[in-house]
Order: sequence, then C-alpha cells, then structure tokens
Amino acid sequence: MITREQIHELAEFEDQSACALSFYFQPTPPRNKAHKEEAILTKDLAREAMRQLESRSKSSGNHKDKFESARADLDRIVRLSQDLRGNGAHAKAVFACSAQNFWREYDLPAQLTGTQLLVNRHFHLKPLAQLLGVFPSLGIVLIDRHRARLFDLRLGELTEREGFFHPLTRRGRGDGFAGYDGGHAERRVADETRQHFKFVADFLKDALDKGMFEKWILGCQETHSPPQFEAQLHPYVAQKLLGKFPAEVTHISRQQILSQAERIFTEAQERRCREAVRETINQARHQARGVTGLRRVLNSLELGEVQTLLVGQSYRAQAVECSGCGHLDAHLVSFCPVCGRETREVVDVGEAILPWVIRHDIELFYVKEDPEFDKVGNIAALLRFRSEQNSNNLRSIADVPRNPSLSRRTRLVGRYRGLASG
Ligand SMILES: [Zn+2]
Repeated sequence: MITREQIHELAEFEDQSACALSFYFQPTPPRNKAHKEEAILTKDLAREAMRQLESRSKSSGNHKDKFESARADLDRIVRLSQDLRGNGAHAKAVFACSAQNFWREYDLPAQLTGTQLLVNRHFHLKPLAQLLGVFPSLGIVLIDRHRARLFDLRLGELTEREGFFHPLTRRGRGDGFAGYDGGHAERRVADETRQHFKFVADFLKDALDKGMFEKWILGCQETHSPPQFEAQLHPYVAQKLLGKFPAEVTHISRQQILSQAERIFTEAQERRCREAVRETINQARHQARGVTGLRRVLNSLELGEVQTLLVGQSYRAQAVECSGCGHLDAHLVSFCPVCGRETREVVDVGEAILPWVIRHDIELFYVKEDPEFDKVGNIAALLRFRSEQNSNNLRSIADVPRNPSLSRRTRLVGRYRGLASG
C-alpha cells in the first residue's frame, strides 16, 4: 500500500536533467506466452527510453553522469521486470533516479491501463492518480443488534480489523425466557443493544477523526436495518456514509463485501463527479466559484483557489513552464510573464499539473465523456473562493498557500479518492 506521505514525496520530486524514471508494470493474465511478452515489452520500453536520453544528452552536452545513472536505473528495471513475470496478482510501480539516490517500488492492484516507462523531470503520476481514485480508503461496517465487524478497503485489499467483533454478553442474550423476570431481561437486552450501537457509532467517529478511512459503507440486515444505530451516528459520521447493502454479519463472504462496497463507491463517485461538473459549469457561468478552460484553470491553481479540479479523461493540451519559477502558461510564450526567464514546452499539461494538485490536496476527477463538459474545454475547476482577478496577480505556484484545512486530515491514500470517476 502506498501512503499519502509517499505520494507527496513523489509529487515533490524533481530532477533538473530530466532523469526521473517512472515505470508502471501491468501483468497480463497468466496464460500462453504472455509472461514472455511482458518482459520483451519492458525491454523495448527501456530501449526507447534510452534512445530519448541519449539524444537529449547529446543536445545538452553535459549531464554525462546523470545519463549513466539513468542507464543503470533502466537496467535495474529490466531485471526487475524479469522477476515480475507471472506475478499476475499485482501491478507494480517503480520511481527511480539513482543520480539522486532515489528508488521506490510499490505494489498496486492489477488494474493499470498498461505497462509504461517514462523519463522526465517529474515522475509520471497520472496512472497512480487514476488508480487511487478507483481504490479509495474505505471503512466497511457490518452490524446487527448483537455484533459488529469492521473492514478496511484500501487499494483493492479488504482487511478485517481484529478485536472489533462485538458480541452481546451471554447474560443479555440468554435470559429472555417469558414469565418470571421476562420483562426485565427484555429491557436489559434493549439497553445492551443501545450501548452496542453507541459503542460502534463512537468508534466510527474516532476512526474518521484519526483518518483511518475517509468514507464508509454500512452492511446490515435489510429487513430490520438498525434505525437505532443510525440515530446514534454523529452528523459528521452520517454525512460520510456512502451507502448501505444487505449483509448478514457472520455469513457474508469477503467477495460479497468487496463487490458490494465497490459498487456503492463507484455509484457515489459518479454521482459526486456529475454534481461537481454541473456545479462548476453553473458557477463559472455566473462568474462565481467556478472557472472553465485551461488558461483560467491554470490561473486559479496558481492563486490557490481551486478546491476540485475536473479534467476530461483523455484531455491533452500543450502549455509552457517557466524554468525558473515553475509558472505554467497556456499561451506558448518564450519568456515567463512572472519572472522573465525562459520557458520550456510541456507536452501534456494535465500531467504537469498533477504534482501541484497532489501537493495542495486538491480533489480531482477525471470526467468521462460529457458533451457539456466538452463544450467548456474539458478542463474546469470549482473554487474554494474567488480572489480579485486581474492580470497583475500572476505568481509562481511555489508561493501558493497550502490548503490549510488538510493538515489534520487523513494520512492515507483516502484523500485521493477523488482522483478518478468510476
Ligand atoms: Zn517564471
């Protein structure tokens, strides 16, 4: 599993001589000659990356050492890919730059769009961003009147939290025979049930506060879903509930839990994305908390206004980036309008803004085909506030204040749940 700190580390990383390697390995199903093909593919990708490095090193003249260390990284990745053969269960991501003594490997769910190898100044984070949106950090609670179980769902892995299973005391359950003491026992059972619900509700509040997960899903018996339990939930906890599914606490299988949770999450995420698109377009129309189009979105990012960023699934656009202050500009100007230094071309601005988005904890959705969104340029942002906009307030992204509300938020990948839509 990859944590929020680790993603931030990747987003912060920069190599001036553009020798930062990102390798994403997506295994093919373990049949026929596929394994061999995986290794050949990686070799081809490494050869291609080497060729790019060579031509760049020739044109720039210096950076000979860097070039050699990038070659060593590529060799190591090719060797690693041989070992990965037949490892059908997991995908893998490697981020490397041995010139800066940097090498990180992460196992990922085998749901990448493909195997890729890229060399650039920053790490290539879009596949990771998309994956983290598909696999958020979720809590799943199964509950009935007597028992409760809690699961974590992170990057496709379902884990049960030990020590949470909460059986009602024997006394409470067993003594309810009619007649002598019957009424008393019933009251006692009701009381213990209430305490049980309260305990679970309090636990959930605590877990959300501590960032154990960011959203949760409830599994309970459909016929008598425990309204008493929901009545005990703190409003803030109730608000984080994504949905419910029918579950028998002790008998439901892991696979059932997993598929129910994924279905509920996907639906919630698609709903949220659609709402964000509508709201942003509407706000932009009224010159309020929304902007559309690359130029305005970049400007709002640099002003630190963006709360939610919406990018078309296959959006690609060019921009230039200042070699000095990092300012990104949709106009392909040769010199930075902020600091006057030379700019360089950015082939895919959607990729170039990802490190910023991650560093500033901006919610991100990749919007699937949507004609209305297409009309406004396939890129838009919902703003936290809208500052007085004028052409003099351009500034470098390095000066942008971080989102202050986030320091106490979740420390795990859950923060990036927004990074993909369904
Ligand atoms: Zn600049």
